[in-house]
Amino acid sequence: MLVILIIGCAASNYFMSTYGAVIDKNMMTNVFETDSQEAVALITPQLLIWLSLAGIVPALILASIKIKPSRWWYTLLTRLVGVLAGLLIIILVASVFYKDYASLFRNNKGVVKMVTPANYISAISRYSNARWFAGDQSLVKIGEDAKKGPLISQQKKKTVVVFVVGEASRAENYSLNGYIRDTNPEMKKRDVIYFPNASSCGTETAISVPCMFSNMSRKNYDASLARHQEGLLDVMAHAGINLLWRDNDGGCKGACARIPHTDMTQWNLDALCKDKSCWDDAILHRFGNVLDGLQQDSVIVLHLMGSHGPAYYRRYPDKFRTFTPTCDSNQIQDCDRQSLINTYDNTILYTDDIVSRTIDELKAHDDKFNTALVYLSDHGESLGENGIYLHGTPYMLAPSQQTHIPFLFWLSKDYQQNFAINADCLTKKAAAEQVSQDNIFSTLLGMMDIKTSEYQSDMDIFAICRKA
Ligand SMILES: [Zn+2]
Repeated sequence: MLVILIIGCAASNYFMSTYGAVIDKNMMTNVFETDSQEAVALITPQLLIWLSLAGIVPALILASIKIKPSRWWYTLLTRLVGVLAGLLIIILVASVFYKDYASLFRNNKGVVKMVTPANYISAISRYSNARWFAGDQSLVKIGEDAKKGPLISQQKKKTVVVFVVGEASRAENYSLNGYIRDTNPEMKKRDVIYFPNASSCGTETAISVPCMFSNMSRKNYDASLARHQEGLLDVMAHAGINLLWRDNDGGCKGACARIPHTDMTQWNLDALCKDKSCWDDAILHRFGNVLDGLQQDSVIVLHLMGSHGPAYYRRYPDKFRTFTPTCDSNQIQDCDRQSLINTYDNTILYTDDIVSRTIDELKAHDDKFNTALVYLSDHGESLGENGIYLHGTPYMLAPSQQTHIPFLFWLSKDYQQNFAINADCLTKKAAAEQVSQDNIFSTLLGMMDIKTSEYQSDMDIFAICRKA
């Protein structure tokens, strides 16, 4: 038992001290729902050395200790005395230093989650309770009354909305958001409507993605319900919208479970992929042909690899190595901060190009469809601020870098006209208002003019900007 616990402690200590990770139920969700490609990127020589010195060596020493049999009452008595003495010391210390401890816990809410092995044992048990012992998991249907409204039904052209879901892109590194470096040279040229005050539902993919596609808000989000309840795409399917999910980011975490989806890493695009990880160019592979083939009103979700860490340097082709020197390693905590930021900014530059080219593909099909595009990131990313790297910090402790996300719309002229959208109104709203992933569900239903009892007009970002 101790051998197992010690190795577990070594692993959780490593991730806490190297990346500032907080070990809780959500982190266990990440551990159990990751894929091999994502996990391999975290295996570094440093991790292996840490695991052997802090885990395997002490475990071997422990295992070599011979346990001598003794009388049962003696064993029981010594342990009882040990536990009582321990309790007594705790009470003594607490009575003298109560104030200091109270303020320590009040000011450092995460400190309880740093105690090994309690942190990962409770995290694993809470995760497995929610995941495997949650009772009735039969599918809960929603929005079965969904129908296309008169606006979309009367269009001469079919309507195509592309929803691009990014990965680990943080708003503060977007020039559209005021960042000093020009990381959005292409999107800037394309009349996008950018929302500078947007926040995510979670700080990790496994929470944010199912959350934004669910009819729940961040405050009442229930991950175990989301797992067996229909979401946005199911409601769209009930209304007869044609759907497709193209994935390049390790899966849709349940959001596309009942609609057509394809994993671009399985397409053998050798020029774009290495070790089962593909540049986001893969997501645009024959995308024009996909658009050519559409016969119905459609929503296509593109799930990007974006700025997936820690191996940021592997996310973009050489052409996008604009900011140098770069940190060409997955041991990001060993790189100097500026080179880490340079590498990260190059990933944003590449995403800027991918989203812009998606817009261009839609523009090229303007004669045939009313087209629009939505882009946002699932969550942000920490790049060493206060010793925190990557993401996944519990929401109430999370720094703004992990929750402040880029969020924008591009609407073709015909879409604006045919769906009676006042773009100026939307631009004004963008500058003034706080929006979040909670708005996605009703905004996308509204964009496709879907009538259902699930739709809430006060959550639809476009609602007040639609002309009567
Ligand atoms: Zn993510």
